[in-house]
Amino acid sequence: MLTEKKKTIIEHMSKYYNESLDIETGIAQDLGDKAESSYSKEFLLSLSDAERQRLGMIDAALKRLDAPDFGLCEDCGKSIGKMRLDVIPWTPHCIVCQEKEEQGS
Ligand SMILES: [Zn+2]
Repeated sequence: MLTEKKKTIIEHMSKYYNESLDIETGIAQDLGDKAESSYSKEFLLSLSDAERQRLGMIDAALKRLDAPDFGLCEDCGKSIGKMRLDVIPWTPHCIVCQEKEEQGS
């Protein structure tokens, strides 16, 4: 099941890259050549702050996939929910905590 989720996240990632960055060839090379050191400096510099943040969240989510608490909210510890994870697989928060944070800031 985790492998399946990982596949989904990677599919989401490629879709996100392809739709919003339009430099897929460069990314494919980056991901292939520098798999162990994640992303190249040039690639990271080419991203906006929001994109970098998103990428960091995706990275963290991929790491969490192997942890037993993947799919649980980092704030309240409750299940994030399959539907939410299907839409935003890299989110570390459940919808309740997310809304609280958005209202608070
Ligand atoms: Zn929560």
